[in-house]
This record gives sequence, structure tokens and C-alpha cells, in this order.
Amino acid sequence: MRTPFVAANWKMHKTVHDAVAFVKEFRSLVKDVHDAEIVIAPPFTAVRAVADAAHASNVGVAGQNLHWDREGAFTGEVSAGMLKEAGAEYVIVGHSERRRLFGDTDETVNRRLLAAVAAPLTAIVCIGETLEERERSDTLAVLDRQIKVGLDGLSADQIGALVIAYEPVWAIGTGRNATPVEAAEAHAHIRSRLRQWFGGTAAEQCHIIYGGSVKPDNIRELTSIADVDGALVGGASLDIRSFHQIVLGSRP
Ligand code: PEP
Repeated sequence: MRTPFVAANWKMHKTVHDAVAFVKEFRSLVKDVHDAEIVIAPPFTAVRAVADAAHASNVGVAGQNLHWDREGAFTGEVSAGMLKEAGAEYVIVGHSERRRLFGDTDETVNRRLLAAVAAPLTAIVCIGETLEERERSDTLAVLDRQIKVGLDGLSADQIGALVIAYEPVWAIGTGRNATPVEAAEAHAHIRSRLRQWFGGTAAEQCHIIYGGSVKPDNIRELTSIADVDGALVGGASLDIRSFHQIVLGSRP
């Protein structure tokens, strides 16, 4: 049985001050939630402060990206070791905004992912099709390519410890989310490919979460789908009440 996994992706929102105020209040709201794994990914500038504010609570902290090298002349990047030192235990890899706006490819996602698991940081790897790809009926082929190339070189144990976020790009920040049938099809497909390529144990252990306009009023329907193990939440995670409701709604 996989514990529901709910992560907040704050993107480029919240100052250190606002992030800390959120976490101080939020940790007390969720202190009795023992049946869900809760993670917040603040901007890099707030990782240390959020980790301190969340210390000894059931709220984990994630980076939103990482570079594959330990150090070097990579202006604007941070390494797995730097994230760990700042208190992160998780990292988002291959978010569609990184792919679309900052040139990430399946190959660079793979390099980032290998660095994350070696650190070790628990990686939340994002995959998902664009609207054009869906309209061309390419969704499952795109997911296959993103899994095959993006997860290349990981052992079955490392796959089992991963969180894969299925995020249809057309559903991110648009208010439009996948129908239960669309989400169920994609999640079942991802799980069956993991089973085929990495074995049954890895496939059963790996969390496959949904992302794309998740809100308090759709979380229950989404997480009642068999292969949906939680959610990656952007906009609705910026508001403390709404993210709290999403955490509560993700549980069986
Ligand atoms: C995301 O950023 O991963 C995301 C799913 O955003 P939103 O919930 O705003 O669609």
C-alpha cells in the first residue's frame, strides 16, 4: 500500500519571510496527518529557512531543480549536495516549465535524476504530454520516451523509491484538468511500463502522482483513481487553507 504523496511546487513565489510564515502555521495544521507524505518546494532562496521552520515536523522540503555536477561554472544552477546541505530531502526534476522555458530535454532530465538519486535525494520526476501531442494521439508514446530516456540507468530499487508526477502540460496552471478517464489511462500506462521495464516490485513501490490544476474540490476524485498516489500542486498550494484541504483530501 503506497502512502499518498502530496507536494507543493511554489515555483517563483514567496519571499523567505512569507515562506517561513506559511510553514510555521501549516506544520501545526498537519501535525496529526500521519497517513500522507507532505513536501514543499520553495524557491532556492527559501530552502534553508523552510527546512528550519519545518524541522522535526512531518513536512519535507524539496528543491525545484538541480544540476548534475557537484560544482562548477554553471551560473544560476545548484547541485544535489548544495540542496542537501540546505536541508532538502527531495527535488523536482524535469518540470514542464524547465523543459519548455529552460531547454531541459529527456537527456538532461536523466542526468539531473541520476545526480539526485546518487545524493541521495528523493526525486519527483515530471513527465507529460503537450496539447499538440495529445491531439495527435501521441500521449502514450511521449510517456514511453520520457520514461525510457529519463529513467535510463536507474536500478529497480531506485525506481521503487521515485515519485513520478504525471502532469499533462495542457493542464498546468490552466484550470483545466485531465478527466478521471484520461488520468486513469495515463497512470495505468506508466505503471505497466515500469512493471515491464523495471519489474513488479519497483512498479508497485513507485509513487505516481498527478499534477495539473489540482484543487480542494477535485483532489478526492483524482486520488480515488487506482494508480493515482497523490498530487503535485502548483497554484493551489500557495494558499495555506487550500493546500491543507488538498492534503486532507488526498487520503483514503
Ligand atoms: C505544477 O506546477 O506542477 C502544477 C501542477 O501547477 P498547477 O497546480 O498550478 O496547475
